[in-house]
Amino acid sequence: MVSFNGIEVPADGQKITIQYGKLVVPDNPIIPFIEGDGTGRDIWKAASRVFNAAVEKAYGGRARVVWYEIFAGEKAYEKFGEWLPKDSINAIREFVVAIKGPLTTPVGGGIRSLNVTLRQELDLYACVRPVRYFTGVPSPVKNPEKLDVVIFRENTEDVYAGIEFQQGTDRAQKMINFLNDMGYNVRPDSGIGVKPMSITGSKRLIRRAINYAIDSGRRTVTLVHKGNIMKFTEGAFRDWGYQLAREEFKDITVTESELNAQYGGKLPEGKILINDRIADSMFQQILTRPDEYSIIATPNLNGDYLSDACAAQVGGLGIAPGANIGDSAAVFEATHGTAPKYANQDVVNPGSVILSGMMMFEYIGWKEAANLIISGFSKTIQQKRVTYDFERLMEGATKLKTSEFASAIIDNM
Ligand code: NAP
Repeated sequence: MVSFNGIEVPADGQKITIQYGKLVVPDNPIIPFIEGDGTGRDIWKAASRVFNAAVEKAYGGRARVVWYEIFAGEKAYEKFGEWLPKDSINAIREFVVAIKGPLTTPVGGGIRSLNVTLRQELDLYACVRPVRYFTGVPSPVKNPEKLDVVIFRENTEDVYAGIEFQQGTDRAQKMINFLNDMGYNVRPDSGIGVKPMSITGSKRLIRRAINYAIDSGRRTVTLVHKGNIMKFTEGAFRDWGYQLAREEFKDITVTESELNAQYGGKLPEGKILINDRIADSMFQQILTRPDEYSIIATPNLNGDYLSDACAAQVGGLGIAPGANIGDSAAVFEATHGTAPKYANQDVVNPGSVILSGMMMFEYIGWKEAANLIISGFSKTIQQKRVTYDFERLMEGATKLKTSEFASAIIDNM
């Protein structure tokens, strides 16, 4: 019997596999889950009921998910004395698609962040964050419904690569000497960080964004960069993006200059517009002209800022879903933390994990289940039946517990 962390793989499920770059999904896929720390347990209990109900309603017993628990974070530490057991990573590799709640970041102990480790070990190079408005969610802008974007943030490079040298150390001094020998003038009391960005890392991210545009019928892919200042990293990201579009998607993409020169500014049927924006201007554009953007592909740091700013714009920071996707595995996850002060109280909003599950069903091609989750979720918010975090911002709302919110979504499917 195959097992991970000493726990047998359920015999009634089958593996999702990848053939010729495409997922092959059985009717009874085994999907590993990490319930998460703190409020993760409350959220997983509620979210998994929503997932099972959506699948049951969509496929009436013809398909079902065989959930398989794997461990990370505090629960893993209590059980196995490790924050992220190798077997949990191996299980995700084996079963290709997984979902997780939030995890505590251990303080000290050598691990920087469990999430970062997972992304690196499994080479989950695209952080995908869809940001859209749900009617009724309290938002700080006048027309939040105009924003509907999917952000593809590069997940492995840039200043997040972890190549840093602390001020005052020998290694920092070596770097400073090296740079000064190359003709730069770096202050002797500097700390140093390195920003690597490669053709490989950039192109695979942008390729995924363009393919997503094709599959989802979206019409614009915007490369967001700070290439006017960082020419050989951010500027190169933009150039490699256009090059990729020319080399691999020539028949279906047009650039902004081609659009104006050849098509009178009107995007022809069946084509996808590839344009680019400088990051600082993009923060203005996404607020003032949100409906001009659809898919955003961007390096790591820009993507980190932009995805939270966009989520805040639609009031959805607490319900924003996310996924980390690579060529051989994908992990869908809550974007908020463990909110430990509310643990085991059945009060927090499970929306982020529920919508991450919706993304997961879309990813494995179970669109009917995904749509049921979206419609149940939207209706429940419109009825103003919400958890405490939304209730305190909405007039005339009914405050529900985590579990009651899940039941309301199920009733509304
Ligand atoms: P946090 O857990 O996100 O909580 C900050 C505040 O956000 C909470 O006090 C609560 O605000 C609100 N909140 C978060 N999740 C919510 C939910 N599901 N429903 C309603 N409100 C929610 O951030 P933190 O306190 O900085 O971090 C706690 C731990 O989580 C740390 O160990 C951190 O490293 C980790 N973390 C993990 C992830 C991840 O696994 N993806 C991400 C971020 C942080 P109110 O108090 O105002 O109600």
